[in-house]
Amino acid sequence: MLTLISAWYVFPVSSRPIVDGAVMVDRERIIAVGTATELGERYPAARRVELREALLLPAAINAHTHLELTALEGVIPEGLDMASWILALLRARGALDDAALRASAEEGVRRSLASGVAAVGEICSAGQSVGPVVESGLRGVVYYELLNGDPAQADETLARGQARITRWRAEYPGARVRFGLSLHAPYTVSRPLIERTVAWCRGEDVPLCVHAAESPAETRWLLDRSGPIRDTLYAGIGRPADLEAAPGVSPMRYLRETGALDARTLLAHGVWVDADDLALVVESGAAVAHCPRSNTRLLNGRMPWADYRAAGVRLALGTDSLASSPSLSVWEEAAYAYILHAEAGERPAPAELLRLATLGGADALGLADELGSLEVGKLAALAWAPLTGASLAETATPERALAALLAGRFQPRALTPDA
Ligand SMILES: [Zn+2]
Repeated sequence: MLTLISAWYVFPVSSRPIVDGAVMVDRERIIAVGTATELGERYPAARRVELREALLLPAAINAHTHLELTALEGVIPEGLDMASWILALLRARGALDDAALRASAEEGVRRSLASGVAAVGEICSAGQSVGPVVESGLRGVVYYELLNGDPAQADETLARGQARITRWRAEYPGARVRFGLSLHAPYTVSRPLIERTVAWCRGEDVPLCVHAAESPAETRWLLDRSGPIRDTLYAGIGRPADLEAAPGVSPMRYLRETGALDARTLLAHGVWVDADDLALVVESGAAVAHCPRSNTRLLNGRMPWADYRAAGVRLALGTDSLASSPSLSVWEEAAYAYILHAEAGERPAPAELLRLATLGGADALGLADELGSLEVGKLAALAWAPLTGASLAETATPERALAALLAGRFQPRALTPDA
C-alpha cells in the first residue's frame, strides 16, 4: 500500500530541507522523497496524509538510556553529586523486584514511542527491558551491564554477561534488536574485566558500551584513587578502594590502554576530556552519546561542544534514564543542548542538533542503513511537529522552524504511516 505523507517542511537530514515536501511510503519503507506536487503526480493513486502546517522529520534515536529505571522518575533527590547519586540509585533500584523493573521498562518503551523515538541504546542490569524493547518494534541495541570492580571476579562477571547474550539470542531469534554488553564505567569495573570483555565482544561481534569521562570524580579516581569515588561511593558500599593500582591516566586514555576504545565502542557522556583525549576518541572512531540533561542534573558540568565539533567526533544524543533526567524525549534533549551550549557561547547550528538526534544516533548504534534520515530504501520511521500557535516569523523558513522547535515551541511526536 502506498501512502504519500506531505508537510510544509520536510527534513530528510541527509539532504537539504524541502518546502512543501513529501515522502512516499510503501508498507514500511520509504520509496521516494521530494516535493508534494512532484510525488503527487508520480503516484496519483496513493493514499494521502496531509500534515499541512507541520514539520516532517525522521524518528529520533535515543543512543543512551536505561528504560528499566523509568519508575525512578522523581525518586532520587536533585542536587546529589555523581558518587552520592549512584549510592542513592543502587538503593532505589534494589527496592524494585523483577516484575516492577519489567513494568518500569514497559512504561519507558511507551514513552519513547510516543515521543517519536525509533531506536534505543538501552542498558539494563536486570534483563527486564529486553522483552519490552524487542516486542515493541523499537530497534537498536540492548546492552547487559557488567559492574564489578574486583579483578578476581572478572571471569565470572563476564560469564554472566555471555550467558545473557546467549540466552537472549535463543529467546528472540530474528529480533530486530541486537544484544550487547556494557562495561558500567572505568571506576566500577576492573582492568581484567575490561580487557576480557573487549576481547570477547570483538570476537563475537557483540556491541559494547561504556560510561566514560562522565564526572570529575571518575578522573580523580583513575589518577590516584582519591576523591568521591573512594570517600563516598566505595566507603558507602563498603568496598576496599585499592583492589587495583591507579592507572594514573585519564578515562579515555585508560580505555585506549585496555583496548576498549575503537570504532565499535559506544561511549556515554564524555564530559571530562582534554584535547589529547579527544584526539584518542577521533583516532579510534568511537561514537559518543551526549546526555546534557543528565550531566547537569548530576553536577557533572557541560560537555565541551565546540571542542568535540572541531575534533570531528561521531556524536549522538541520549536522554539517560529518568533517574537522572526529566524525560525520555530526544527532542527535549536536543532542545536542552541547544540552550546549554548557546549560553556558553558555543551555539550549535539547529541542523547539527537535528543530525545528532537522528542520523548521528543511528550511526552510533550501527543502524544508519535503516534509520536516521528520510532516504529511499530506509524504514519509514517518522516524527512530525504541528506548527500550532507559531508566528509567521518563527516559521518563515525551514531553518527558522527548526530553530523554533529547538527553542521548545513545538513538540515532535511519533507518526505512523497507517495513522
Ligand atoms: Zn547511563
